[in-house]
Amino acid sequence: MGKQAQRQLTGNVKEQIEKETSRLRVGIKEAEQRAIRDELTHVFNRRYFIPAIKKEMKIAKRLEEDLSLIIMDIDNFKGINDTYGHPAGDSVLAEVADILREHKRAKDTLVRYGGEEFVIIFPAMDKAAAYKAAERIRIAVNKYIFYWEGESFSVSLSIGGAAFPKDAQNYSDLLQKADKKLLEAKETGKNKTIFV
Ligand code: GH3
Ligand code: MG
Ligand code: MG
Repeated sequence: MGKQAQRQLTGNVKEQIEKETSRLRVGIKEAEQRAIRDELTHVFNRRYFIPAIKKEMKIAKRLEEDLSLIIMDIDNFKGINDTYGHPAGDSVLAEVADILREHKRAKDTLVRYGGEEFVIIFPAMDKAAAYKAAERIRIAVNKYIFYWEGESFSVSLSIGGAAFPKDAQNYSDLLQKADKKLLEAKETGKNKTIFV
């Protein structure tokens, strides 16, 4: 093989390797996103939540800032599945997630915490501001009209909230306190926001 042909061959091999490497990089990025996002709503999943809240609380401590957290649960969601079917329930979940996404700030973290439960972490936000944000979200969801096969209906959220450092010093306690308030909202009539 002549020198020129050899150079040509090396060039081709290099080009192939570069192409393949970039293809693999894209694949890895996509797989990483899939691992931390909920498939139905595309918001972050529970796996992402724990390191995220730990990190945000560390930052809040260092900067001596407040941090608030809300946990939201769709009221009577089982009834939606029972009345309109499971695919209708799925579409409600995706649309509720869209409303939540529209109402959060860029630095807030939105997570699908369970079946019909979502959490939002509000960094640098005190309890009074978080309560207002939660109420805006609750009202926006309640006003929204859902359509399924020619029928329309609305849904509501119950919301529990707590704030660092006032109510808890670590993430599990903060979550537990907010969850207790969510339960209280459920037990006292639903479609309401209660903070510690
Ligand atoms: P409450 O007001 O007390 O919250 O009542 P609820 O009916 O919302 O709560 P319950 O826990 O009784 O029912 C939740 C239902 O959510 C049961 C479960 O089948 C449904 N669910 C959970 N995940 C999904 C999902 O991804 N898609 C659909 N369509 N339904 C789901
Ligand atoms: Mg529910
Ligand atoms: Mg629930």
